[in-house]
Amino acid sequence: MNLAKRVSTLTPSSTLAITAKAKELKEQGHDVIGLGAGEPDFNTPKYIIDAAVRSMEEGHTKYTPSAGLPKLKEAIIGKFEQDQKLTYKQNEVFVGSGAKHVLYTLFQAILDEGDEVVIPTPYWVSYPEQVKLADGNPVYIEGFESNDFKVTAEQLEQAITEKTKAFILNSPSNPTGSMYSPEELKELADVCVKHDILIVSDEIYEKLVYGGAVHTSVAQLSEQIKEQTIVVNGVSKSHSMTGWRIGYAAGNADIIKAMTNLASHSTSNPTTTAQYGTIAAYTEEDGSVENMRQAFEERLNKVFDQLIAIPGVSCVKPKGAFYLFPNVSEAVKLNGFNDVDAWVEAILEEEKVALVPGSGFGAPNNVRLSYATSLDAIEEALTRIERFVRNNT
Ligand code: PLP
Repeated sequence: MNLAKRVSTLTPSSTLAITAKAKELKEQGHDVIGLGAGEPDFNTPKYIIDAAVRSMEEGHTKYTPSAGLPKLKEAIIGKFEQDQKLTYKQNEVFVGSGAKHVLYTLFQAILDEGDEVVIPTPYWVSYPEQVKLADGNPVYIEGFESNDFKVTAEQLEQAITEKTKAFILNSPSNPTGSMYSPEELKELADVCVKHDILIVSDEIYEKLVYGGAVHTSVAQLSEQIKEQTIVVNGVSKSHSMTGWRIGYAAGNADIIKAMTNLASHSTSNPTTTAQYGTIAAYTEEDGSVENMRQAFEERLNKVFDQLIAIPGVSCVKPKGAFYLFPNVSEAVKLNGFNDVDAWVEAILEEEKVALVPGSGFGAPNNVRLSYATSLDAIEEALTRIERFVRNNT
């Protein structure tokens, strides 16, 4: 059977491809260290699990409103007030089945055929595919490594055409871990306000910031910028709840209403039990979010020097998220490979370490390593990578 055009151009997720290969090797009995994961290695905090179980026992096992329980929206509104001094109403919040689904629904709601979305590189793998699935066109601007992988207002200005509908911001970033300062955010946002372009601000890594860095939401910068921004966030990374599938968007009521209508015909609602767990996550906070953040920061500081000591490897020190995104082009050359993808595959074959090649993120000279795994495992993985580079030079 002929499949629809829309799926024939889809690029499978590079993160999932390497994870599948690593799993295959593991099943064959090899001692594989996977640094591909995009999820915290901790279990969900117990107070959240308890609240979810309690909700089921109390009979909350039925459909909810499509955009989420009013009580959950209230908890999310409270979180915005507390963390960012941002005020939203119930009709300005949409809860979906994970931030990924929220973004998907957003692009379906705002894009017509040929509309352009400006995406800084390196980017999270799903942005371009989601834009294309909504008949939009991704337009890339390069976040240069020399500028901590960040784009400038001038670059954004130059990329704008009559068809530009939205600009995606992801700070802290997956895959680079870099963060924009309030001044940089303001410059970018001013360009969007001037041209009436929607800012899609993916703040899923908001809670995972290091070295004393403070996260600023672009929506905090002025009332006008807030009106021009849809903030996307969720509990997957902050509360180690990737499998629960809860994410949300906040912003313009018309956009939120359109997303709600779409969800009413697709998911009906995000899983009820997970919504109850998320209410607890935001209203009964017990310090575990900060404990997990500290654990990530400790790992980052312990492994960073070991990483940059590998010949031919350089790395911008991340300020957030849980990824390292080193430039390995020199090591790849030293080892006689044509590209990073082949080098990554050889490391998996020879040293049984799974890295994600940067090509899937629009950065062909880099690889992504997740430190959302035990310190021992990361240190051993880096030892093996160093051995690979030295043995093959
Ligand atoms: N946005 C970014 C930048 C991510 O890295 C991820 C997850 O990998 C998501 C969104 C999606 O998160 P969720 O698990 O809530 O769908």
